[in-house]
Amino acid sequence: MSKRIYLVEDEKSLRILLEKYLEREGYEVTTFSEGVPAINRIKDMPDLWVLDIMLPDVDGYEIIKAIKENSKNTPVIFMSARNEELDRVVGLELGSDDYLSKPFLPRELIIRISKLFERIYGKEEKKPEEEMINISGYRISKRQRAVFLNEEEIQLTNKEFELLKYFADNKNGVVSRDQILINVWGDDYFGSDRVVDDTIRRLRKKVEKMNIETVYGYGYKLVVK
Ligand code: CA
Repeated sequence: MSKRIYLVEDEKSLRILLEKYLEREGYEVTTFSEGVPAINRIKDMPDLWVLDIMLPDVDGYEIIKAIKENSKNTPVIFMSARNEELDRVVGLELGSDDYLSKPFLPRELIIRISKLFERIYGKEEKKPEEEMINISGYRISKRQRAVFLNEEEIQLTNKEFELLKYFADNKNGVVSRDQILINVWGDDYFGSDRVVDDTIRRLRKKVEKMNIETVYGYGYKLVVK
């Protein structure tokens, strides 16, 4: 089941942008442009609140307080563009779980959220991993960290192998560049997502019988018939 995120942000363009990004990651998002309607929905107990501090009607800190009074385990990430150091301290004292100072890249929020969810709810339950995967004539051995075509090993770099494994685990599913970055490069990687495109270009050459499709403007999909 997808996780429910309640997002409170009065700045319309940022609200819409973040909503899009979060939905792309598969989250179910409800947005609020003001604080009071958000406070009225605290009892819904979403899996996460993402809160702006400067709101037209109430102070974001009031919302944090109300959320934590209702259930101190409900995670909160807050965003602020004001006196950063002070905001951070006050917000964290009130029980917030993480903090982003504006401006930030939407991907940074996505990464923080996935880290937080992992910490709080544990890793997504995974099916027991298959050791050997067969795709389009290739044999991928996870234990050996190697790929074979007709018993011949194909030389892949570590990242190319991780990327191929990630595609194999998500075959026929569309994966975004952000998802690839988080899962293959790790959530502490803050470089350009061009690295994804470059690595895929090299990978395609090495396993050319595999059909890694580009999903324009979004990401990629390993198509397996
Ligand atoms: Ca604001």
